Amino acid sequence: MTETFQNRERKIISLLEEYYPSFKGGLVHYSSPFQLLVAAILSAQSTDKQVNAITKELFSKFPDPQSFSSSSLLEIEQAIASVGLYKNKARFIYNLSLCLIQDYNSEVPTTLDELVKLPGIGRKTANVLLNDWFEIHEGIAVDTHVKRISFRLGFTKNTNPEKIEKNLMEIVPQDKWGCITHLLISHGRAICKAQKPKCNACFLLSDCPRKGVIEK
Ligand code: SF4
Repeated sequence: MTETFQNRERKIISLLEEYYPSFKGGLVHYSSPFQLLVAAILSAQSTDKQVNAITKELFSKFPDPQSFSSSSLLEIEQAIASVGLYKNKARFIYNLSLCLIQDYNSEVPTTLDELVKLPGIGRKTANVLLNDWFEIHEGIAVDTHVKRISFRLGFTKNTNPEKIEKNLMEIVPQDKWGCITHLLISHGRAICKAQKPKCNACFLLSDCPRKGVIEK
């Protein structure tokens, strides 16, 4: 990695921090690592808005693994029926709850290796939990915004999320592995949209290798 390359990445990260000083995750209703895991499971192929609309009531009725595991699948399905793929998600949440009770004394584990073995938990969700709740920076959560913007900014040439994560981990200082996800998501929502990115209004214009290509 050349010094010029590192300087460009560093400058982009600083600008993102400057422009999105109050970035935060989109999921808002959770008060334990378990609840954050459940909210993250619900958010797969659904919007944070759809998830936030149900999680307050959901977690008042089902606050912990015990309350989910002592309910029927049908009850869980009914409680989350407004989010996409709710039948699969209900099964994941039920199995996750049982697994945590049986194998982890109802505690959520704190390593990436253990988290990705849990039902319904992939690398992205595990990274969100570790970075956002435990402030343990083992990896970087790569969602659709992170994937798209990393590619456009030239942080990666890959399309596979795990390879993108590895590329980002080489560029971004480890203490920023949690915030970089939210900074790129903020930029994706505000300016670097999937369709018609607002390149002319973008503060990264002079440092972005994709600006001209996308605008044509
Ligand atoms: S210049 Fe355009 S493509 Fe590049 S980061 Fe900004 S909005 Fe995205």
